[in-house]
Amino acid sequence: VALSNARNEIVAIYDQALDVRSGPTACLKEIITLIRLGLRETSINPQQLVAIGMGVPGPVEYSSGLLIAPPIMPAWGGYAVRDHLVEEFGTQVFIDNEVNLMALGEMWSSEAIMNNALFVKVGTGIGSGILCNGAIYRGADGAAGDIGHVCADEHGPRCSCGNTGCLEALASGAAIAAQAQEAAAAGKSELLAQLCREKGSLTLADVGKAVKEGDQEATRIIKESGQRVGQVLAGLVNFFNPERIMIGGSITQTGYLFLAAVRHAIYNRSLPLSTRHLAIEYSQLEGQAGVSGAVILAWQELFSNPYATAHL
Ligand SMILES: [Zn+2]
Repeated sequence: VALSNARNEIVAIYDQALDVRSGPTACLKEIITLIRLGLRETSINPQQLVAIGMGVPGPVEYSSGLLIAPPIMPAWGGYAVRDHLVEEFGTQVFIDNEVNLMALGEMWSSEAIMNNALFVKVGTGIGSGILCNGAIYRGADGAAGDIGHVCADEHGPRCSCGNTGCLEALASGAAIAAQAQEAAAAGKSELLAQLCREKGSLTLADVGKAVKEGDQEATRIIKESGQRVGQVLAGLVNFFNPERIMIGGSITQTGYLFLAAVRHAIYNRSLPLSTRHLAIEYSQLEGQAGVSGAVILAWQELFSNPYATAHL
């Protein structure tokens, strides 16, 4: 949760882990508490709050602000998040998919010109935000950019969405952790097995740590995951011809091996004309891309609608 002033400067920011599976009521209660804390600590009168922008890790029907059948947060499906916050703060509220907001935040903070770009988040799941001609492209219903459920291997493992072989089931942070755990159990890596014994289970961060210590199996898993993501992105590069691909999410903490594998797959598989000026990089905003984008979204919406700003 971040509070911004009218000059687009973040004046308060709070980073707190939230389990979306605990449902919208419990999560929104914590979010509201943080917003109120921010208002208190910055001595901002709640009446001065003009808008709230919020990103969620699931598909959003932008016109209604509703999440539609979100795979990792089923309890939120159809829940009126916007109404809940409007009722609490009496202000304008705009809800979007979190990766769309990350793309927007990155575009506004970047010194490079970025009109056509993709922001790819690789965390627990995988998703992307599309910038087309300088604006977020949401598609007909708001589902554009959901690359985590593109089929990358027909015979691959089952995904949280019910299908098999989705990119997310093969190459996300959760998939990487699961593969590392299997490797540890199969005796393929002494280091991963040791980490697993110490902690009971493995996370993406553990795999990143093993890569930094030169573990071959962890290196193979991360490299393969980068190649999978790169293969899907290569198709998107041919189709969309972006000038920049930014990668964010917890995968960036595992180091540059993943990025190198993504780059390799894209440059190998995409057409020369579409990669001639293509930059593929890790996000420069680290954890702040989402909140920065949420602020930009709120301003854009307020100023594109004269009725919304009539009371400012
Ligand atoms: Zn899926």
